[in-house]
Order: sequence, then structure tokens, then C-alpha cells
Amino acid sequence: MSLGCPKNLVDSEVMIGHLHREGHSLTTDCSEAEILIVNTCSFIAEARQESIDTILEAAEFKKSGACRRLVVTGCLAERYSKEIQSDLPEVDAVLGTNQIPLIARAVAGEPVPAPGRFGRSKADLYLYNHRTPRVPATPPYTAYIKIAEGCDHSCSFCIIPKLRGAFRSRRIDSVVREAEDLAARGVREITLVAQDTTSYGTDLGMQDGLTRLVEALERIDGICWIRFLYVYPKLVSDRLMHLVAGSEKICKYIDMPLQHASTRILRAMRRGGSRLSLSRMIERIRRGIPDVTFRTTMIVGFPGETERDFQELLGFCRDVEFDRLGVFVYSNEEGTRSFGMGGQVPIRTARRRQGELMEQQAAISRRKNSRLVGRELPILVEGASRESDLLLQGRLPSQAPEIDGVCLISDSEVGALKPGEFRTIRITRALAHDLIGTVVR
Ligand code: SF4
Repeated sequence: MSLGCPKNLVDSEVMIGHLHREGHSLTTDCSEAEILIVNTCSFIAEARQESIDTILEAAEFKKSGACRRLVVTGCLAERYSKEIQSDLPEVDAVLGTNQIPLIARAVAGEPVPAPGRFGRSKADLYLYNHRTPRVPATPPYTAYIKIAEGCDHSCSFCIIPKLRGAFRSRRIDSVVREAEDLAARGVREITLVAQDTTSYGTDLGMQDGLTRLVEALERIDGICWIRFLYVYPKLVSDRLMHLVAGSEKICKYIDMPLQHASTRILRAMRRGGSRLSLSRMIERIRRGIPDVTFRTTMIVGFPGETERDFQELLGFCRDVEFDRLGVFVYSNEEGTRSFGMGGQVPIRTARRRQGELMEQQAAISRRKNSRLVGRELPILVEGASRESDLLLQGRLPSQAPEIDGVCLISDSEVGALKPGEFRTIRITRALAHDLIGTVVR
């Protein structure tokens, strides 16, 4: 059971790879599994609760199913290993984010050291490479590639640097080799992930490492779409924009969490910037990459956030008109700089602000989607739609896997189009987050 972000999913796929190599086979039916692994997330309260619920759900199979061993891995394990072992006796082993290669030992019941706190040398922090066994859990035509791990930023609300350690990049040749292997196995779309993809290579002494990496990946035959997520503000270079703007393969898609727009709140978040500087940066990117799809995430309810700060954020999002916007309610995370800060915002107020921002965004998204009606665009066919088995769905370059809307294909019978095929679709209808269209070729 893999929870949380695509970076955590890659860890799950690596753990499956190690277990496969040891001769273990997988099942999707928890009741027949002899061993259950829950790869957890822990970055905000909701994610933590989902992780605990999933562990308890898995533990039930020790009573009702074939399960005889329950292993907990990932960010919750890294953060609360002692608490898990004392409060959840059903759990047999706990592995931290740095102990992924020990999964076979944990499954076999061999002793594994307790997840250590990061503070040790960079050399002993874990980072997979192209030789690491990995079994993708995504559909065969698409895959994530983790290009770096950890984070050196110090956003005051964020616990991730403590759970994932210092920023460390994989070498370019290793990422390229992995992408070539994936292409040889039929992958057509790759999505590059890290806590901050724009810092790629800085720790290896590279200038503009992400641009160099994407240039190298662009040359791989068989890969049709390349996308990178988690861009850090201010780190998008002119060279990167030029590359994206002129490329057939690189999706014109910028995913840049901005978190807020009030100067005061951005300062308290240790992110810096202002509404004006952020607006100028977005204009620069929109000029540099015409037709770019801009995704961002915001946090409402950060300690000290006043109604005036929120109105600043609301106004900023109204003016900028993001194509995609996710809104999180601030989570008061133990171990972060903002934990226990004064001016905690009542949850009802934070939820009200979240609702207001999402409502405004739904109208913006619908309006922007309606401008696509009549246009012919490339589509990656995914297969039966999540809405109904009678419909097919696919994604446009402007729609990232799992986090964005999809394009429903209205005229094709199920089976007429194969998952992983690239076609051209004419958009016939726009919804708030999804689109509908007919395949023209
Ligand atoms: S960039 Fe900030 S929010 Fe993102 S992982 Fe790093 S510290 Fe956390």
C-alpha cells in the first residue's frame, strides 16, 4: 500500500524491485497476502491520519487474512518509529526513508536498525540509481523518475527536510540510463520528481542541471512526453524556458508551489518574495513559454494570517488565473519552525478560506477550459475512464497524471483505442476541471 506523493511511490516501486529479486511475488488482494507493507506519508495531519488508518486496516488482515507480517515504511516510520512500535503492536517491523534497501530483511524477520535521525554524513543517505531493482506500479506507458532526494530549503511549515535529509542529486548518466530502460519497456511519458527539481545538480557542482538533464532525456527514442514537477520559485532559468518552449517532447507545464502571496506571510514561511515579485516571475515564464500550463499550490491558515493577507492571496490568484491550483489548510507540524507560532488561525476560518479560494479557482478553470473548445490537441490515451466504463479517457500535455483533470473521449468505443496511444482530439466541451472531446486522428 503506497501512500503520499509520487516520490514515495518510486520508493514503493524500488522496494517491490528488491522483493522481486528475492523471489517474492505480489498480489493486489490483501486478504491473501502473507506480508503487508504500508509505505506511509506524514507531511501534514490528514496524511498522517490516512497512514495510521491504512496501517490499522492492514493489521485487520492479520486476524482475517493470510497476513503474518506487517511492515511500515516511509515518512511516518521515519518520524515516529518508536511510537509506532509502542502504540501499534500489530506492526512487526519499521523502516525509515533511508533504509529502503533493507526491505527484504525486514520482510524476512531479520533484525533491522531503528530508523536513524538524519544528521549523519550525506554519504550514508539513501538514493537509488539505474542499477537499483524497481518495478513500476504506474500504467506501462508512463513512469515517474526521482532525480534527487531531500531538500535544503527551510520553509518554516515543512517537516520534509527532517524526514528526507539533505538535497542530493542522482548523476545525469544514471537518470538517462533509467529513462532508456523505461523507454525500452514501452514507457512513453516520463515525469521527473524531487522535492525541488530546479535544484537538480547544484550539489554535484552543475550549473542549470535540470536543463542539461532534460536536454539529455529529450534525445531518447521512444519517449514522447517529458514533464518535471515541483519547481522552486526564482530557479527557472532562461535556458530552461527556451528549451521547453522549443521542444516537441517537453510538456509546456510548470508546477511551482508558491504557498502564499502576502509579503508578511511569505516572510514568516521563510520563502521570501511578494505579490509583485511573484506576478513578475509568472509573467516572465508565460512570456518565455507561450501557452504554458501553470500549476501551483497555496496554504491558507498559516499562523498570523489575517483576513487582509487572505484577501491579498485571493486577489493574486484572481489576477494571475492559474490553470491548476491546489489549496492546503495549514497543518501545525511538530518539529517545524512554525510549530506553535503565535496567531494560530481557527480551523473553521482556514477551511472557509480554502473553500473561497477553490470556488474562485473552479470558475477560472472552467473559463480557461472553455477557451479550448474547438481546438485540436495531442492526447495520451489512458483507457476506461474513472467516471464510467463506457467512456475512455486520456490526458493532454497540460494534464499531469493523478493530480490534474482528464480529457474524456466521447466518440470512441472502449477497445478502439489502446492505452498508451497518442492521438489528436478536438475539444467539444469544457467542465470545471475535465474536458470532453472526439478523436480526429
Ligand atoms: S521546498 Fe520547502 S516545502 Fe518543499 S520540501 Fe523543501 S522545505 Fe518543504
